[in-house]
Amino acid sequence: MACNASTTSIGSTTTGAHKRNSNDVGWEYGVIPDKSNMDRLKCTLCGKVFGGGIFRMKQHIAHMTGNVSSCPKSKKYDQLKCLNNINRGKLKKKAKKVHIKDLRVEVRQELDDSMDELENSLGSMAPNVIGPMDNFANIINHEEIVKAEREKMLILTILP
Ligand SMILES: [Zn+2]
Repeated sequence: MACNASTTSIGSTTTGAHKRNSNDVGWEYGVIPDKSNMDRLKCTLCGKVFGGGIFRMKQHIAHMTGNVSSCPKSKKYDQLKCLNNINRGKLKKKAKKVHIKDLRVEVRQELDDSMDELENSLGSMAPNVIGPMDNFANIINHEEIVKAEREKMLILTILP
């Protein structure tokens, strides 16, 4: 294959069009029938057209009900493929949260270590760092967060 050594790499990517994520497994089952509405996808298996983007297409193929009707033509293999992809996305988000938690535990551990040293030098006189007051404070914080969330929800339902 001949290779043209023309250097036109600058400004070749953005033409104003919405760039789809071509790595997504959903694109194996969906096409965009109308370029003016990139959010509308057509299922290549059953021909159904619906909005909501590639994520909804995967739900359609994977028979995940709730947002979209299930694809009558998708095979078990197709369903699992899309289901795995959706679940993997969820796991990735979870993994990030766990990582942050781990960091916190590490910091806590360092604090505990230094408190141990202090305790050793003071003998048994040092009080326990994590007392019942701390637990109590945590409960209050939690309740306040729930309350704040509820108020947010209320505002959302009042707004048009
Ligand atoms: Zn379909």
